[in-house]
Amino acid sequence: MNRLDVRQGHPFCFQDELFFVMKKQTSPSIILYMDIKEYVTLRKSALKNQISSLTKKPRLSIITVGNDPASEAYVRGKKKDAAEVGIEAIQTWFPGDISEETLLDAIRKQNNDSSIDGILVQLPVPKSISVEHINLTIDPKKDVDGFTPLSQFRPCTPRGIIDYLTAEKFPFKGANAVVVGRSEIVGKPMAKLLLEKDCNVVQLHSKTKPDDFRFYFAHADLIVSAIGKMNTWDASYSYRPSAWLIDVGITRGEDGHLHGDFVPSLPVAKQTPVPGGVGLLTRLALLENLMEAVKHR
Ligand code: NAP
Repeated sequence: MNRLDVRQGHPFCFQDELFFVMKKQTSPSIILYMDIKEYVTLRKSALKNQISSLTKKPRLSIITVGNDPASEAYVRGKKKDAAEVGIEAIQTWFPGDISEETLLDAIRKQNNDSSIDGILVQLPVPKSISVEHINLTIDPKKDVDGFTPLSQFRPCTPRGIIDYLTAEKFPFKGANAVVVGRSEIVGKPMAKLLLEKDCNVVQLHSKTKPDDFRFYFAHADLIVSAIGKMNTWDASYSYRPSAWLIDVGITRGEDGHLHGDFVPSLPVAKQTPVPGGVGLLTRLALLENLMEAVKHR
């Protein structure tokens, strides 16, 4: 079956509603994929509709420490996303020399504040503060980043990817899925969620032997790469023509542009772009986790 990376036409479920994307199918034998930007726009407008019917606006607390320019840009993006769908995002800023206890106390205070639905601490924080202690302090019911051990939410990047693949009707059951990277926030939860979807999951990492990447890639139906090394996976590797490549990696090259782990335009069924791919899915997942928190108020 031919697969083209252009606008798609099929129904997908979102919360309690069923949305139908305009069909643009040129032939019954051709499946047309929906562009990620279009998918995210549709999901955001569904969220906006849901939020507009709520009597109390959802509230997201973003806690920042210090003045990391990259973090400031991420926080601006999160606030903008929240505002677009009608979520109120409040930011609490602390100087970089704040003590860990003061920060943890602020988190505890927000845990007990019923006007706040979700709390996230923007990483990185200064080395004097333990991320583990932060994660153990945030109320699991408010941990919309999904980082804490008992969090009721899926971490945003894996959640965003799984939801997108589900909407695109990726055939998870029995599919050979390769996850490259084993970080706590992307690689490990990604592999777990794919296993829960009945994929055969292989997890590769920096100690994997070079020839084994070639072996597993050549047999993969889905490859999710989260290593952050630009253009590592190129056309010298064999891919199934039907394979889906999900590129989580983001690296700024010497050319000043953002690049993924895969070189663009590999000969496969579907490859997510960088930028404009998984980053958008991650941002969407944060808003959707917050809405789940609101439902369990
Ligand atoms: P991380 O904590 O640095 O983990 C990187 C993982 O990749 C590690 O498990 C490491 O293996 C593995 N690795 C590194 N080089 C490798 C290589 N040459 N071959 C095979 N495996 C290799 O990073 P992360 O937080 O998971 O993020 C990974 C990338 O995704 C970064 O570029 C980050 O910016 C990006 N990211 C993007 C989004 C998004 O929304 N698009 C979200 C999160 C992260 P070892 O465990 O053996 O060291």
